[in-house]
Amino acid sequence: MENKTMPQKPWFYYYFVTLLIVLFFNAMFGPRILEKQVTEVGYNEFLERVEEGKVEQVAMDQTQILFTVKGDTKDIFKTGIWPDPSLGERLEKANVKFAAEIPKENTPLQNFIISWVLPILLFIGLGQLASRYMMKRMGGNAMTFGKANAKIYAEKETGKTFADVAGQDEAKEALLEIVDFLHNPTKYTEIGAMIPKGALLVGPPGTGKTLLARAVAGEAKVPFFSISGSEFVEMFVGMGAAKVRDLFKQANEKAPCIVFIDEIDTIGKKRDGAGMIGGNDEREQTLNQLLSEMDGFDGHKGVVILAATNRPESLDPALLRPGRFDRRIPVELPDLAGREAILKVHAKNIKVHTDVDFHAVARATSGASGAELANMVNEAALRAVRMGRKMANQSDFEESVEVVIAGYQRKNTILSPRDKEIVAYHEIGHALVAASQRDSAPVTKITIVPRTSGALGYMMQVEEEESFLMSKEQIENKIATLAGGRAAEEVIFGRITTGASNDIEQMTKLARSMVSRFGMSEEFGMVAMESINNKYLGGDATLACSEATAGKIDEAVMTLIRKAHERAKAILEDKKEKLHELSKYLIEKETITGEEFMEIMKNGKPKASAE
Ligand code: ADP
Ligand code: MG
Ligand code: ZN
Repeated sequence: MENKTMPQKPWFYYYFVTLLIVLFFNAMFGPRILEKQVTEVGYNEFLERVEEGKVEQVAMDQTQILFTVKGDTKDIFKTGIWPDPSLGERLEKANVKFAAEIPKENTPLQNFIISWVLPILLFIGLGQLASRYMMKRMGGNAMTFGKANAKIYAEKETGKTFADVAGQDEAKEALLEIVDFLHNPTKYTEIGAMIPKGALLVGPPGTGKTLLARAVAGEAKVPFFSISGSEFVEMFVGMGAAKVRDLFKQANEKAPCIVFIDEIDTIGKKRDGAGMIGGNDEREQTLNQLLSEMDGFDGHKGVVILAATNRPESLDPALLRPGRFDRRIPVELPDLAGREAILKVHAKNIKVHTDVDFHAVARATSGASGAELANMVNEAALRAVRMGRKMANQSDFEESVEVVIAGYQRKNTILSPRDKEIVAYHEIGHALVAASQRDSAPVTKITIVPRTSGALGYMMQVEEEESFLMSKEQIENKIATLAGGRAAEEVIFGRITTGASNDIEQMTKLARSMVSRFGMSEEFGMVAMESINNKYLGGDATLACSEATAGKIDEAVMTLIRKAHERAKAILEDKKEKLHELSKYLIEKETITGEEFMEIMKNGKPKASAE
C-alpha cells in the first residue's frame, strides 16, 4: 500500500515552534514594554532629587508618592508618604509638575499577558490567515478534519455550475431535480415527496463525474463535502467508520448540503461474507457505517449524497437498495456534439485563432473523454507558445490531438533508412487496404514520425459522421485494414517484423467479439458466450461456455482473421505499384495528408513534391 499523504509531524513540533516564536517576540519587544517598572527609593533620595531639580512629575495618594525624573521616560520611582508639610512648597520651588496619575506598574498578570498570551494569539492569527490564503489559492479545499489519512474536504462554494459541464445533458437533467430540492426543500416535503437520498454517477474515467457533483453544489449554492473512497484503503481498523461518522455529522450541521463520495467502489465493493480471515474487516466496517448513516439521517433536512464510480458492477447490492443510492445517473463518453462543446468550453480559457474548426477536431477524437479533450486544448496552447505564437491555431489543435492519441513526437529518435522504409510500407499498407474497401472511414493522415508512446508511425482515419452501429462488413473491413500493415511487409519484403503487434491485438479483439458477443459467425449464431466486466475500464471478457465450445470459438476467430489477412494481401498484390509510389513519397515527406494520399491514388505523384 502506498501512503500518499505527508507524514504527520509530532505534536511537540508545533509546541516547539510556538515557544521559539514567543521567545523571539520577548527578546524583540520585551524590554520596551516590560521595563516600565517601579523602583523604590528612600524619601531622602526623593527630596535630594527635588532639590537638584531633576524631578519632572509627581503624583501621590494616601500611601505613596510616584515620580518621574527628567530625561528618563521609562522609569517610575516610588517612595512612601512622610509627614512633611513643606513638601508642596519645595515641589513648587523646584518647578515640578503635579500629575493626577502616573502610569502604574504592570501587574504580574499583565506581564504574563504581554509576554506570552499576546504573542501566541498573534502567532495563531497569522497562521490562520496564511492557511486561508493558501487554501484560496489551492481552489478552496478549506478545512480538513481529523488525523486519519482520509480527508474530508469541505467547500462553502464550489464555484462550478452546469455551464462548466459541456454535453452530458441527460445527466444534468437528472441532477436538476436535486438542485431544485436543495434550493427549496419545503416544496417537496409539503407534498410528502421523498427526494432520493443518494444518486450514483456511473461512467468511464474522465467523463466529468466529479465535475458534475461539484456543479450540483455550485448550482444549488450549498456547501460541498467530499471524501474519496481510495483514501480509506490505507487506514487502520475503525478509522474509516469514524471518518464516515464525522463526515455525516459535519454535513448534518451544514444542511442543506451535498456529500460526495468519490470512487465509492473502493469501500463499497461486494462483501464476500465469511471465509476471509481479517483482510477486509476495515472496508466492511466502513461500508457498514456508511449504510447505517444513510439509513439514519433524515431525508427532509436536505443532505443529498452523490457518489461516483467507474465499476458499478462491483458495488455491494446493499448500497443500491431503495433509500440508498437508488438513482443511477450514467455519465457516458461524449458524442460528436458533446466533444465539440467540451472543446469549446475549455478553449474559452485560452486564446484561440478564428481559423480553428472545433467540429473537425471533435470528429478526429472519437472515443476521447472530457478529461482527454481538456488536455488536448491545453496541449494546443502549449504548442502555440513553443511555436512563438500568441494564439492557438488549427495546426496546434491537430498536433495536440495526435499527442493525446499517440504521444509526443520523438524528434531525436532516428530510424535507420531500412526501418524507415519498412514502417512506410507498413503504414501505406493499412491506408491502401482501407481506401480500397467500401464502407471504411477516409484516411486523413499517414506519418512515420515516431512518437513517445512507442508507435513508429501510424495511419489516422476519421469517420465522416459518428455512427453507433457497425455492420458485419464494416468490422470485417476494419480487421482487413489492420492486417494491411503486416500484409505490405510480406508482399514487398517477403519477411515480417514486430511492427504489427498492436494491430494483431486489436484485430483479435474485434474478431473475438464478432463470434462471442455480436452473433456474427455462422457456426454459433446468436449465442452470447462472453460477458464483459468493467465495461468502463477497457472491458475484460469472461468466458461463459464449455471448454469444447471455447476451443471452437478460437477456431472461428482464427478463420475470420485468416480471411481478412488474405484479402488484405490480395488487395496489396493488386496495387503493388501504388504501394511503391505512395511509400516512396511518404519516406520523402514523413507525413502526408489524406488529400495528398487520395491525389496519388487517383493521379499519381503530385508535382509539388518535386521541390
Ligand atoms: P471523472 O470524475 O469522471 O473521472 P472529472 O470530473 O474528474 O472526471 O473530469 C476531469 C476533467 O475533465 C474535469 O476537471 C474537466 O476539466 C474535464 N471534463 C470532463 N468532462 C467534462 C465535460 N463534460 N465538460 C467540461 N469539462 C469536462
Ligand atoms: Mg473523478
Ligand atoms: Zn500497423
